[in-house]
Amino acid sequence: MPATLMRILSGIQPSGVLHIGNYFGMMRPAIALQAEGEALYFIADYHALTSVRDPAVLRENSRRVALDFLACGLDPERAALFRQSDVPQVTELAWILATVTPVARLELAHSYKDKINRGIAAGAGLLTYPVLMSADILIYDSDLVPVGKDQKQHIEITRDIATRINEAYGPTLKLPAPRIQEKTQTVPGLDGQKMSKSYGNTIDIFADEKEMRKRVMSVVTDSTAVEAPKNPDASTILDLYSLVGTPNEIAEMRAAFEKGGTGYGEFKKQLFGKLWEYFAPMRQRRQEILAQPAYIDEVLAAGAQRANTIADSVMERVRRAVGLR
Ligand code: ATP
Ligand code: MG
Repeated sequence: MPATLMRILSGIQPSGVLHIGNYFGMMRPAIALQAEGEALYFIADYHALTSVRDPAVLRENSRRVALDFLACGLDPERAALFRQSDVPQVTELAWILATVTPVARLELAHSYKDKINRGIAAGAGLLTYPVLMSADILIYDSDLVPVGKDQKQHIEITRDIATRINEAYGPTLKLPAPRIQEKTQTVPGLDGQKMSKSYGNTIDIFADEKEMRKRVMSVVTDSTAVEAPKNPDASTILDLYSLVGTPNEIAEMRAAFEKGGTGYGEFKKQLFGKLWEYFAPMRQRRQEILAQPAYIDEVLAAGAQRANTIADSVMERVRRAVGLR
């Protein structure tokens, strides 16, 4: 590989089932980037331990994330796909990074505060999540990190931590840059808040037809009457439709909102139709993968090997820099 090849890194937690926010915010951009450099995508199973307490569920979710990511177009010939825990050196780096990280910085992180406000327990794992995430990124000398907007601050923390290490020990870690898609930076969930696996407000990519319809029909709306004009700029339905409709279709729905005479239920039906159609090729590919039982294990094993090679060399550099070797 030429030394100039850009290294692209991103991860997704097996904290639940993948949803369309994950798809448009992270998976689709990550899949598009796999042609532009050396891509490394991982299943963040250490991170998911902050919210999943059932080992069988964690195993099942991790496998499903691999399956669903592949079904959505991750090409293992171009991108390495692996489990975070297949590179345990990352926890060693996280420890080293924690020694230069101010607690106050972690306490102020939006993602941490949002989760606490949602009633998720304020464990040390959740608080130090950005430190482990920094290690995830820095251990591969990553250049670019495609993520949703909720992760922007975590990348800033990563750059801050890397800078602290470099100031303390001399140039050791490479500073990464985020890549956030403006249009899909925060996909709203059924309640209009950020769609999240842990918030119970998702539309899952591979829900069956009945379930996906039910989810879409439960998008929260205001109580504007059928005849009345509706605000197209404050509608979760239209926000979601904009992800899957053509420019013409989106303009038509906007016009129908403003005109009045169409109820939210009708708009939701149109949204469901488009969403179902959009993911049809992915459902097809998923069936094909399911018919090859060994495929996922092979992909994960090859990905883990590639990731370990890079992580070992960066860790050797870090251990020497800080004086452990
Ligand atoms: P959890 O609720 O457990 O945190 P999550 O749904 O937020 O799960 P993550 O695994 O934390 O998913 O995030 C995986 C990737 O998906 C990240 O890059 C994140 O920015 C992106 N992402 C998650 N939710 C959204 C969303 N609603 N809109 C856009 N991007 C998102
Ligand atoms: Mg999240």
